[in-house]
Amino acid sequence: MKKTSRLPVTLTAPGERALRAGHPWLFDGAIRSVKGEGKAGDLAVVFSVKKNKCIGVGLYDPGSPIRIRVLHGGGPATVNEDFFRKKLAAAKELRTPLLATDTTGYRLVHGENDGLPGLVVDVYAGVCVLKLYSAAWLPWLDTLLPLILEVAGSETLVLRLARVVENAARASTAGAGLTDGAVLSGHLPEEELIFREHGRQFYANVVRGHKTGFFLDHRDNRKHIGELAEGKEVLDVFSYAGGFSVHALAGGATGVTSLDVSGPALEQASRNVQLNFGGDPAVAGRHQNMEADAFDGLAELAESEKTYDLVIVDPPSFAKSEKEIPGALAAYRKINRLAVPLVAPGGVLVAASCSARVTAEDFFKVIAVALQVSGRKHKLLDKTFHDVDHPVGFPEGAYLKTVYYRIY
Ligand code: SAH
Repeated sequence: MKKTSRLPVTLTAPGERALRAGHPWLFDGAIRSVKGEGKAGDLAVVFSVKKNKCIGVGLYDPGSPIRIRVLHGGGPATVNEDFFRKKLAAAKELRTPLLATDTTGYRLVHGENDGLPGLVVDVYAGVCVLKLYSAAWLPWLDTLLPLILEVAGSETLVLRLARVVENAARASTAGAGLTDGAVLSGHLPEEELIFREHGRQFYANVVRGHKTGFFLDHRDNRKHIGELAEGKEVLDVFSYAGGFSVHALAGGATGVTSLDVSGPALEQASRNVQLNFGGDPAVAGRHQNMEADAFDGLAELAESEKTYDLVIVDPPSFAKSEKEIPGALAAYRKINRLAVPLVAPGGVLVAASCSARVTAEDFFKVIAVALQVSGRKHKLLDKTFHDVDHPVGFPEGAYLKTVYYRIY
């Protein structure tokens, strides 16, 4: 049975411009006309209004404000097995340098940035976790599944669905039997598995964990923290499962505090510490948790006049929409101003932002100003962006920025 149809579409002038500029999203307001009813996953064939020739193809999603996710721009394309195999192989190729390291948890497909908008594939110790952010992919799963397994060199695949996609799946025939956490291929003995990141081990719950089970995007910064940690006292603020903390301990930190508001996240941090250093109680004993709201916790630590040689501040996204940007900048300002006094003379502050809405320029300015008003001498050490498995293919794809300062 054919699950999808071809859907001739025309765009408004700004819509055509966005497509020609290579943007992967065409919003509902950019659509001028659609010939037919249009189901989720139909192949939108976009025609230019003036010349009536095909200028791109994408996946149609009537339930999303991003009405078309562009698969190919600039002309027609045959979207079939071969088309997807080529995209997946190109994505794998890009990750070759990372896969040559002692790392088994990586992002194989980073959505629009790898030409597959709304589709993410993370691999943890050989298990593929396919996360869909658009119902448009549901009718394409039969085609995609064997290709993903083939390119990843894997046998097992777990499906993760964003809430809107899960709801759409429940209401559609294409989504029959597809639920968040379903094992669609192979066998998953445990929900949780162990993967490696530059020689360190971590648990990932691929069925129920945040995103696909772990925040892989900071891998390179975590490695860097490991390299800076020898003989240092480390404070890992917004630690989640202790990614930075484990690398710091492995790098020879004399003490590491993981601070998070979430008890379960800290429990996971302790488990990750045990996983790596369970056999070496002297190292594991250098780790402690602090369960607190970061804003209160940092103020409390400052009161006790405690200082650290390395302070990492990696909050969750503070801006989910345009109107939240000023509030997010204020929150970055506040949390980093609270962090500066905790940095011992000669120590390092590592400040990160994962808000796509907040530009790197604005974020770096906030941190620079926070340091200026502290009155302490400081030196910019480094600015880092995305690791190779999180390429940036369009402006909104650039979300992660981190800055390193030495503070005297
Ligand atoms: N640094 C982590 C990822 C951080 S994710 C890594 O490398 O893997 C953001 C974390 O911030 C989550 O664990 C969440 O529980 C925590 N968090 C959110 N709001 C918080 C708050 N107000 N105070 C402390 N922690 C908070």
